[in-house]
Amino acid sequence: MTTAAAFDADTLRQAIRVFLAEHSVQREVSEGDAWRDAEQEELDALHDDEARALKSATEYQRALFEAGLAGLTWPAEHGGRGLSSDAQTIFQEEAAAYAVPRVTFGVAINMVGPVIIAHGTTEQRDRHLPAILNGEETWCQLFSEPGAGSDLAGLRTRAVRDGDELVVNGQKVWTSGAQYADFGLLLARTDIDAPKHRGITAIVLDMHTPGVTVRPLRQMSGVAHFNEVFLDDVRIPIANVLAGLGDGWRVAITTLMHERGAGTNKRADYVGPVIEQARSRGLAGDRPTRQRLADLWIRGRVLELMSDRVMQQRGSGEEPGPHGSLLKLLRARLAKDAAEIGMTLAGPGGVAWLCGDNHDDRWVEALLATRRLSIAGGTDEIQRNIIGERILGLPKEPSNDRTKSFRDLLANG
Ligand SMILES: Cc1cc2nc3c(=O)[nH]c(=O)nc-3n(C[C@H](O)[C@H](O)[C@H](O)COP(=O)(O)OP(=O)(O)OC[C@H]3O[C@@H](n4cnc5c(N)ncnc54)[C@H](O)[C@@H]3O)c2cc1C
Repeated sequence: MTTAAAFDADTLRQAIRVFLAEHSVQREVSEGDAWRDAEQEELDALHDDEARALKSATEYQRALFEAGLAGLTWPAEHGGRGLSSDAQTIFQEEAAAYAVPRVTFGVAINMVGPVIIAHGTTEQRDRHLPAILNGEETWCQLFSEPGAGSDLAGLRTRAVRDGDELVVNGQKVWTSGAQYADFGLLLARTDIDAPKHRGITAIVLDMHTPGVTVRPLRQMSGVAHFNEVFLDDVRIPIANVLAGLGDGWRVAITTLMHERGAGTNKRADYVGPVIEQARSRGLAGDRPTRQRLADLWIRGRVLELMSDRVMQQRGSGEEPGPHGSLLKLLRARLAKDAAEIGMTLAGPGGVAWLCGDNHDDRWVEALLATRRLSIAGGTDEIQRNIIGERILGLPKEPSNDRTKSFRDLLANG
């Protein structure tokens, strides 16, 4: 555990305000648009004009780095400021009203950076950490496969050693942002004879390597943020292995813990617009509605306090623990319930609206968009399993595949 450097909150807040006013635009949030949170706006911008959105995100991130405001909680020796999580909270409070990149560098800054700090070699840290902080590198997470999502340790992408290289063959799926990522954090199986959790290796993949094919998966909304990634005889230097051959499960767990604990508290984004909707429609005095709004608000406040706690753990250099699962579960359920209540309050307008009326249709969008929160980064059921086993100390799920070699599992399956 490292000790966070002391800082003056007012001075930092002022520096952030000056920076944001100079380098970003304020979000215009009308009541009907209130749901469309900043991440959705960024995804839309990437969909509409990817090159332009990437260019402006990169310029912003470089300026942030040059102003000394990138990686506030990263250790100073790795290019950050070594400040406590309070500094990050101040940044998020100030940035909430601005259209700043949150998704484009999300995997790189929130997940890969901390993973390289924890498991990378000196060369890997020197190569990637400054480039992540100054916006030169975007990353994607190459974990899920068609047959390995919740059961991630069942992944079948193979990496076979050939001299100083690994030769990788397999397929990944649901890879967010792979279409523009420079690098991918790849999990592949290097030892088929070891038990499933022990034969996996984490590897840094340059996405421009021959043999990497990225195919977009178009969603029902028309956008294609996900991809399938095919790996055909992809040759990767052995120096790109993180932690060590066969040690990839440790890296995967670190990544997922950071992913689940990441994200600002979303109380304002989820709950505020619903309360506003009730007020503007004159429904805030209705007793059942008030009960539901009060319930949402209380859960939002709990989420906020839980987020603070997880952020503090991360800020003090502690490895994020299973409490990130609690946070993720609460966040997903709150968002879905808020969207459902918002849709109900919208009345008939929530199910049918005139072309060009972007007031009520936002609630439908919210209802559909929030489903993803219960799947991405591990489903609600998997978070409950983790909470049961690792926080409540309940017995592990019965399984007979933890000690058998993966080759035998394949033969049986
Ligand atoms: C918006 C979004 C972004 C994503 N981005 C990425 C990305 O960038 N990179 C990446 O690698 N992946 C990504 N994913 C994939 C995501 O991690 C997987 O979808 C998720 O882990 C679930 O895996 P699966 O889809 O294979 O479902 P399955 O694992 O097949 O699960 C199907 C159902 O069975 C349930 N289930 C499975 N096992 C258990 C169990 N042991 N106990 C109880 N219930 C169980 C699940 O909860 C679920 O309801 C993304 C997904 C979404 C929705």
